[in-house]
Amino acid sequence: MLIDSHCHLNFKAYKDDLSEVIGRCHQANMKVINVGAALDTSKKAVELARDNKDLYASLGLHPIHVYDEEFVVEDYQDIIDNNKSEVVAIGETGIDYFHLWQCLEKGADSIEEVKSKQEKVFRGHIKLAMDNDLPLIVHGRNGKEDKTAYGDIYKILKDAGAKRGVIHCYGGNLEEAKKFVELGFHLGFTGIVTFDKTGVLEEIVKWIPNDKMLIETDAPYLTPEPYRGKRNEPSYVRYVAEKVATIKGVSVEEIIEITGNNAINLFSLK
Ligand SMILES: [Zn+2]
Repeated sequence: MLIDSHCHLNFKAYKDDLSEVIGRCHQANMKVINVGAALDTSKKAVELARDNKDLYASLGLHPIHVYDEEFVVEDYQDIIDNNKSEVVAIGETGIDYFHLWQCLEKGADSIEEVKSKQEKVFRGHIKLAMDNDLPLIVHGRNGKEDKTAYGDIYKILKDAGAKRGVIHCYGGNLEEAKKFVELGFHLGFTGIVTFDKTGVLEEIVKWIPNDKMLIETDAPYLTPEPYRGKRNEPSYVRYVAEKVATIKGVSVEEIIEITGNNAINLFSLK
């Protein structure tokens, strides 16, 4: 089954035509996980899941927003308790060294302080996920020069004993990918696979064991070819599936079935 394991129909980009976009998801006969990036968008993801069959929600405070609001774990626990069948994961959470300067502008004193705050909030999400037996949706991004984000994510996950979840929009190297999979994590691939010229992602897609692979759009961002430059939407995850199928040398139907079953199992989708 076609499943977009990570997107943001809960974001403002869809405020004018959300019902049409959701209509196209139904037409495509797919399931969709909407991912929160702060408390308000987490709540919105739950609302969408309540109102629409085949839409599900993940709750979290994105690492680039840890200076916009505090991560109050009770608020998130409350939402989980009241929406057991809608909430299927915790995140997105993780480490982002690309946007560190933004946090300095928001009042952080130093890069070290931002990093330790991100880690503290990340660890809070990991505990919340483990306490509720939910998988994690992990965001990682290296800085232009600082390439330590994925290594730090690995250390934190391993130290906390986390074993279940996805490193979404995977952007680390092959060596790091192997360590995440060894730990038990899935890797998520976006539309970047349709236009990446570095060869790194292709190498990772070729290598990844079938049972650890997910596909996603991260819509409204990262629109795949042939729609690159336009707003992304969940039904375009098919183009990610097509590219992954080409790289792995199998049929697109096979990739849709494998990644769909992986998402159903990881997130216990009903
Ligand atoms: Zn996202």
